[in-house]
Amino acid sequence: MNKLNLLDFNIDKLEKKIFLKKKFIYNQIIYWIYKKFCFDFKYMTNISIDTRNILSKMFKIILPKVINFKKSIDGSIKWWLNTNNNIIEIIYIPSFSRSTLCISTQVGCSMKCKFCATGKNGFKRNLSVGEIIGQILFVSYFLYKNKMKCITNIVIMGMGEPLLNFYNVVNSIKIMLDKRFFGFSKRKIVLSTSGIVPFIYKLYNYIDIVLVISLHSSNNNLRSKIMPVNRKYDIISLLRAAFFYVKNTKASKNRINIEYLMLNNINDSIDNAYELLDLLKNFPSKVNLIPFNYIGDVCFTKSSEEKMFSFLNILNKNGIFTSIRKNRGLDINASCGQLSGVLN
Ligand code: SAH
Ligand code: SF4
Repeated sequence: MNKLNLLDFNIDKLEKKIFLKKKFIYNQIIYWIYKKFCFDFKYMTNISIDTRNILSKMFKIILPKVINFKKSIDGSIKWWLNTNNNIIEIIYIPSFSRSTLCISTQVGCSMKCKFCATGKNGFKRNLSVGEIIGQILFVSYFLYKNKMKCITNIVIMGMGEPLLNFYNVVNSIKIMLDKRFFGFSKRKIVLSTSGIVPFIYKLYNYIDIVLVISLHSSNNNLRSKIMPVNRKYDIISLLRAAFFYVKNTKASKNRINIEYLMLNNINDSIDNAYELLDLLKNFPSKVNLIPFNYIGDVCFTKSSEEKMFSFLNILNKNGIFTSIRKNRGLDINASCGQLSGVLN
């Protein structure tokens, strides 16, 4: 019999799969895995041998395997992981006040954004709950073994479009929030989407976390050219959906978090800044300008610092709180959009 990955299971699902008379044993199993990093049933010593035997006949605890890793001069670490014979990439980004883990939700991505290395390589498959959770557990265990600062924040900004792997992503987030598992605060889990409008509305029914929209353009014409998703869901419908989500949930504090990638001479002019301002006048927002990261053979280049600051000043002066993202892990190709799923 093919064994199931126990990391795919939350407590309810586990109870449905395997009947244990004493309910507290479910919690004990989870405690061993998530708090004590014990990945073999035979060492779960406060659980009866009979139960351990049943568990090990049905389940395995499957973590992704390391293929390679690189450490940046700024302390960030990027891992290439093998998960069921596909390569995914994840990044640990420590800073003074927090330690963030950027995780992947798909092998590749189908969205074909013109500026993104993940998109350039196409889509292979969705990751399962166990494969998503396995990334966090793997890094948590690594940090524990190396006595390093444990993860405080999760950003779902690695490979893939999370809303196109909706149920696995939602169920993974439930495990991230559950105190018996990781217990992250909802304000410390960030999900970034290119804008799959119906799933933003649907997300509201399932989970309350910080939503980030990859907008990257101040008009539809431009956005459709660099992000094909815009041909299906245009900017206003996206902003409406995002506003609905943030208004009706708590973690995003009633503001839409907008990512705006600065592409030299494409979307970074003063006119673009005013156009963006006009777009956002009815949508309480916070803007994060992202410097473009080099991904090889594409026709985009980075905007100059001067242009970025002019853009920032226009938005800030007109009441839209705007910041510029500090890039981390650039020397190891570990920044946004650089995760190709290929060893480099
Ligand atoms: N698919 C989701 C989340 C993963 S991409 C999304 O698109 O939002 C994470 C972020 O990296 C997005 O904001 C994306 O637009 C940005 N990004 C992609 N390519 C980039 C590049 N070359 N330089 C900087 N940011 C990039
Ligand atoms: Fe996919 Fe996001 Fe890259 Fe677009 S930016 S191709 S949605 S990973």
